[in-house]
Amino acid sequence: MIKILVTNDDGIDSTGIRALADEMRKIGDVFVIAPAEEMSAISHALTLNAPLSYKKMDDRHYKIFGTPSDCVYLGVVNIMKDRPDLVVSGINSGCNMADDITYSGTVAAAIEGTILGVPSIAFSLFGNPPTHFDEAAPWCGEIAKSVMESRLPKPTLLNVNLPDGNIKGYRMTRLGVRRYSQNVDEIRDPRGKTYYWIGGEQAEWDHIEGSDYVAVNEGYVSITPLHLDLTDYKFLKEIEHWNFKNPDD
Ligand code: MN
Repeated sequence: MIKILVTNDDGIDSTGIRALADEMRKIGDVFVIAPAEEMSAISHALTLNAPLSYKKMDDRHYKIFGTPSDCVYLGVVNIMKDRPDLVVSGINSGCNMADDITYSGTVAAAIEGTILGVPSIAFSLFGNPPTHFDEAAPWCGEIAKSVMESRLPKPTLLNVNLPDGNIKGYRMTRLGVRRYSQNVDEIRDPRGKTYYWIGGEQAEWDHIEGSDYVAVNEGYVSITPLHLDLTDYKFLKEIEHWNFKNPDD
């Protein structure tokens, strides 16, 4: 039986991780190793400057006082004696498409799994907030089975976004482009101190054919393969011809 590490960034008590863990139990031996608190938009942070601890709820549930990446690192290297065969992260409450993957703790957990050499998938459900986690979960299960059967190349992970109900099928996609509102709310507290609330506006994406956003918007599960090598190889050829001078010349 395969061993599956289930984590997320919404916290161990969230609806999405329960739906995902229930589904994964049909495929393998599931270890839920997830943050005690919500850690959305924490990205790939690891806890290095503070002691990291966890609470073992039972043999298969571990509440980590840390980030999603901490959960995967601790889970793979320490908690799960034999390494997991698969890391799955989610199902996140809200999508992680386009440029948002750079902020996402959900995706970062799958990146951490990939770095540690374990096939990894991030699952996110569109909606603000989404509600159809139970409908999404079997689709996640099928994708996990396919990954176990067909194997992912290294270092590649899958970033999956699902529509919130009435799912029509799958589409293989590229990352889209998000339009950020670049909005900052400036608010004064009762003592006159100013504080700021960033990024509160409704999310919007460019309508790019073949993108994650278009797939989910049209009712399809979006599957985007992500590669960890972010090098821009096309531009590398051009920047080689730039004229960088040594400071003393
Ligand atoms: Mn989240």
